[in-house]
Amino acid sequence: MSTQIKIGNITIHRIVEQEGPFFEALKFFPTLSKELLDENRAWLQPKFFDRNDQLMLCIQSYLVETPHHKILIDTCVGNHKQRPTRPFWHLMDSDRYEKNLAATGFGIADIDFVMCTHLHTDHVGWNTRLENGRWVPTFPKARYVFADRELDFWTKRQKTDPAACPWVEDSVLPIVAANRADIVKSAHAFNDLVTLIPTPGHTIDHYSVQVGRPGADAVITGDMIHSPLQAHYPELGMMADYDSKLAGVSRRELFGRFCDTSTLMCTAHFPSPSTGRIVRWRDAFDVAAA
Ligand SMILES: [Zn+2]
Repeated sequence: MSTQIKIGNITIHRIVEQEGPFFEALKFFPTLSKELLDENRAWLQPKFFDRNDQLMLCIQSYLVETPHHKILIDTCVGNHKQRPTRPFWHLMDSDRYEKNLAATGFGIADIDFVMCTHLHTDHVGWNTRLENGRWVPTFPKARYVFADRELDFWTKRQKTDPAACPWVEDSVLPIVAANRADIVKSAHAFNDLVTLIPTPGHTIDHYSVQVGRPGADAVITGDMIHSPLQAHYPELGMMADYDSKLAGVSRRELFGRFCDTSTLMCTAHFPSPSTGRIVRWRDAFDVAAA
């Protein structure tokens, strides 16, 4: 399956690794009350929540094809990785990601840059692959773009508590060791078609990526939002947030900036098609079908 979105002279391809029910809503959103869930269930089910209030999530990369570069944004879970606390991601051995990448017409050797919006396990996995028992960069010519404070945070975390973040050792540090990391500020202007936007909170230095030109653009949001419920209630944090309050501020800022514009939001985890435009809803926002 290949899904592509054309915006001006840019083509965005979705590369899906997994899609289905993953986490219970009341655990995923620790401050979500049963009452608020009851109030919203009707519009969330069955597309965004299943019948058991599990979130329907997509795990995917976006491949942004500009006239100059092929940029892969986020790299999912990856194969053969030890993830004992996440059984559905533990030692995955699936050809779905590689097949869906091939369906775009591009292969691993075509990728110029890999951008990781943040360094969580489901955004860095295909950074590396196993070769003769060693983790090596999957994309042979790519530079990997990491935010400086994000990399610093996870490098330290890996040293103090490696079991809490096994993905750093197998999917992040090998990139740094291979001298393939471009360490940038999370507001880095990459070129005239690609700019990073700091959206901290979910992690310490999370960034989103704006691509295109004014009037013909898209924002690849990463994990600054996980569910349209967080557009209605921007202050609703999720369980893995570094700072949920700050994540709420980032959501209000970014959605306020793009509300009622043509800018397409390409979310990491909404179920397919995963995209939409931001519109006003009460004192907050909604993600309208594109
Ligand atoms: Zn994620």
